[in-house]
Amino acid sequence: MSTGFIVLRGGLSLDATERRAERGDILIDGTEIRDCGPCGMAVPDGAIERDVSGSIVIPGLVNAHTHGHGSLGKGRGDLWSLELLLNAGPWISAGRSHEDKYLATMLTAADMIRRGATAVYDLTWEQPRPSVEGMHQVARAYDTIGMRALIAPMMADLSFYDIVPGLADSLPDDLRRTVDGWRLDPFGASLEACREVLATWPFDTDRLRFGIAPTIPMHCTDDFLAACARLSDEFQCPVHTHMAESKLQALNGQLTYGKSLTAHFDDMGLLTDRFTAAHGVWLDPDDMRRMADRGASVAHCPASNMRLGSGLAQIRELCDASVNVGLGSDGSNSSDNQNMFEATRLAAYVSRVLTHDINRWVASAEALEMATIGGARAMGFERLIGRIAPGYKADLAFLDLHDLAYVPLNDAFNQLAYADDGSSVSDVMIDGRFVYENHCFTTIDLDALIADTERAMERLNRDTADRKEIVAALEPHVADHCICFSSRPHHVASICDKHG
Ligand SMILES: [Zn+2]
Repeated sequence: MSTGFIVLRGGLSLDATERRAERGDILIDGTEIRDCGPCGMAVPDGAIERDVSGSIVIPGLVNAHTHGHGSLGKGRGDLWSLELLLNAGPWISAGRSHEDKYLATMLTAADMIRRGATAVYDLTWEQPRPSVEGMHQVARAYDTIGMRALIAPMMADLSFYDIVPGLADSLPDDLRRTVDGWRLDPFGASLEACREVLATWPFDTDRLRFGIAPTIPMHCTDDFLAACARLSDEFQCPVHTHMAESKLQALNGQLTYGKSLTAHFDDMGLLTDRFTAAHGVWLDPDDMRRMADRGASVAHCPASNMRLGSGLAQIRELCDASVNVGLGSDGSNSSDNQNMFEATRLAAYVSRVLTHDINRWVASAEALEMATIGGARAMGFERLIGRIAPGYKADLAFLDLHDLAYVPLNDAFNQLAYADDGSSVSDVMIDGRFVYENHCFTTIDLDALIADTERAMERLNRDTADRKEIVAALEPHVADHCICFSSRPHHVASICDKHG
């Protein structure tokens, strides 16, 4: 439905696919881009004119993998591997009220928008299981701030301590009893809640969608995975998981299933064109071929993979296999910020430490393509977002050409990927509406959000102090056990360690 015309005059628009940077005008009709053309384009009477000649205009960045609830856990751990992060999960995400879920999601969304992201695939977390009210709180946060989102609750029916061979038995008795008490519920109630959310979703599905996230393959029984596949088929809803993120997971999958985690997911009927694998650090060529054959996507999260020491994903090999690749920041509790400029830069850089062959490196425009079109495809928003073209949604980020990252302007793509840290983002439009203007949010009160967060953290820190102590006591045992387990040989090499 048209809500009026806006014409953006004279901006330097980037098209990553065609590696084209051109000044021109963009006509927006309500929520959509109606036309793009040379400067001075004729527009309908009454169109609001806006001079953006001081800006680079890019499609809003698409964060293909994060965790909205993670914002309250940023900076929690330092020398944490993925396994130590999972060990800390019962502490850092505990005790959240529905208001906390709203608050955490809003904080994540604000962090993304100020760095030019307009859409997100959010794997949120609700303990002990997803609820209709909890999922609506998360959606309401995105609705209020005005961000496009695909929300998928992480679910599991086996705990971290259940699935790492020998881990529980290696713990002192008191700690083993404690983690025994952290066993997860059977999956039935979780999937029933998801079914209800899917059947009664009250939000505009051009803006907000719902999917499911059996969170880590080995943390889900086969019965659970089969039920997820049935639910996804029934509602044609997206499915997202953390696939072969760490070497321990890849080794453990092989040990448990006698095949890779990806092959297991495929055999469970979960590899489809609605499926996104986060990370995929330890995929082998057969896994990549399966992903490509099924039309699945990978959300590459280089910052998280390096922060947690998970390894370096073989992105060129995935692209060669014709797997769609989007980029993600991952949650603030594992890679701290929500900066898609950083994800773009690191996607290019990681490819360069894997080979001397410059022909196999990820170029700046290619990384930007992953951060826009690749993510849009992974979210099922293809042909809706990710490009500046007629018929696409008016999701745009405006970068100040006077930001020092662009002074002097030699090559907009290279400078966006390598010089800009996102500080240049002055304005963000989502669905034809400016949600961030002149470095300020228009839809939320940031000071109030900060004050609410500080109040919530006082309470959460007090209420979870005992869990913090338990997690600290578990940490050396988990670390030793997992380092030892991960030192076994594996046929994929994704880490720069002479021991593999
Ligand atoms: Zn994640």
